[in-house]
Amino acid sequence: MTAIIRASSDNSASRRPLGLAMRRGFVGRCPHCGEGKLFRAYLKVADFCPACGEDLHHQRADDAPPYLTMLVVGHFIVAGIVAFEEFAPPWPIWVGILGWMGLTLAASLILLPRIKGALVGYQWALRMHGFGGAEPAEA
Ligand SMILES: [Zn+2]
Repeated sequence: MTAIIRASSDNSASRRPLGLAMRRGFVGRCPHCGEGKLFRAYLKVADFCPACGEDLHHQRADDAPPYLTMLVVGHFIVAGIVAFEEFAPPWPIWVGILGWMGLTLAASLILLPRIKGALVGYQWALRMHGFGGAEPAEA
């Protein structure tokens, strides 16, 4: 009985701040310390935090970052196109196509690593995929 109570109090004492971890990941910093760089390349997550040594290789963001990026960017771009076509003066179609394509590309490239970083922070805060210290069980 004592062991059960101790185990549950240990879990609550070592809670990780979800919002802070996601914000740190969003700006490309380690979700644990907020100092070290999260990425070693554009979308490559570093194996370890260079500042605090936190294991970061446990992350499994997989397809979630591109999916969420398309979801967010698509909604803003489509709303922008509809609003612009409704309220702005007419302009040549090629200007619209190139402009909206460029904006879509730029927004996607800017948002993608930020969303991936926030998701890594989410996984770290919730101790998913081995971030809790124990290796995940093999199937
Ligand atoms: Zn760190």
